[in-house]
Amino acid sequence: MLKLLTIAAIFLNIGVFPAQCETSAMKALVRLESATAQPAPEISEPASLKTTSANPRYWIAVKAQNKGERTDLAELGLAIEEIASQTVSGTVSEKSLAKIKVRGFLVGYERRIEEFRPKAQKDFPQQDAKYHDYVRTYSELQSVAGALAGYASLYSVGKSAEGRDIWCLRLNKNARNDDASSDPGAVVVGNHHAREHISVEIPLRFARWLADNKGKSDVKALLDSRDIYIIPMLNPDGAEYDIRGGQYHYWRKTVRKLPSGDLGADINRNYGYLWGQGGSSPDPSADTYMGPSAFSEPETLAMKQLFDTHTNITTCNSYHSYGSVVYYPWSGTYDDIPDAKDLAAFKTIAGKIAALAGYRAEKSSDSYLSTGDMNDWTYAAHHVFSFTTELDGSGFYPGAAAIDNAAPGNIKAMLYMAQISDNPLNAR
Ligand SMILES: [Zn+2]
Repeated sequence: MLKLLTIAAIFLNIGVFPAQCETSAMKALVRLESATAQPAPEISEPASLKTTSANPRYWIAVKAQNKGERTDLAELGLAIEEIASQTVSGTVSEKSLAKIKVRGFLVGYERRIEEFRPKAQKDFPQQDAKYHDYVRTYSELQSVAGALAGYASLYSVGKSAEGRDIWCLRLNKNARNDDASSDPGAVVVGNHHAREHISVEIPLRFARWLADNKGKSDVKALLDSRDIYIIPMLNPDGAEYDIRGGQYHYWRKTVRKLPSGDLGADINRNYGYLWGQGGSSPDPSADTYMGPSAFSEPETLAMKQLFDTHTNITTCNSYHSYGSVVYYPWSGTYDDIPDAKDLAAFKTIAGKIAALAGYRAEKSSDSYLSTGDMNDWTYAAHHVFSFTTELDGSGFYPGAAAIDNAAPGNIKAMLYMAQISDNPLNAR
């Protein structure tokens, strides 16, 4: 405990942390106090998963004052989750942490994930019974598909590395499964990142809302005229891995076993536009590992095939947590997208989505660079007006009430996106 208080004193004395981050750091310390008082139980892991024990991961806070420094940290393997004016916080592997220190960054706080994990966190699925694991996500999609008979087909867009189907609920008056359609297409996808479980729930709530409201004339008009793809769980291996043993593990990536012995890639750094050219790491141990090549991972390849074969898709929103922000391209370069009309439409749509959800909107690379993300590739390759929504909440495991808080505004935002899919350039 003395050590913790010393760390807090260092924060305050060196003045590294502004008010926002002090709060965050102090909250972490409070959580740690309760964790220290009552140690978390041992995590039992299958033998095949022992690799992660041999490669510990940490939650850290680092001094970084601008987007250039934040990008350097992302390239060194930090998965940035919280940004304040003077600092960033997030998760790293042990190797990445060593590299960050060697580079001379000031690490003000570091804690093993096992120790950082707040004791008060709600285990999945008992206290967080509203959240859907892989099997229950599929059951819910089946139920909604039944309620939307006449529009719905539930099909697999591909298999994860461990062989789980990546389920897509497609809503179209005429086309089924992977059939072609000329109706304006909108894609809603969640769970690129394993631990962002609420990003599964919001697309599921959207699907359920459509089923519950299909009799309303405006909803019926939308269903009759659009081609809607809802993929709540793109990273099912990671989502399951993150809740193994009834505890959360702060896992971000997929879990494909790599030749190095490390597990998984950051699949939102694995898409093919500007892949590997900044803001992601070539180190397989890193939380921001880009993969050995663009579209090397079966999950991103499944999305590539979806967009390559359904060029009627004009809009997309990729759900993440947390941050209460809507990002638009580019992610992979600090430049603006060059087409002025497209840029204006991106700003309009992002602003509207953000307003409906109660968030702010900004260009993704204004925070830091991240090449190989879904938005950049879908826009560059297929002219899709593609967005990232970082849902609200104070962490990866905000509890069941956070779903109810986030759902209404984000459902409105998804309806808006589907509506403007006929001509995003005319969006208001
Ligand atoms: Zn994410």
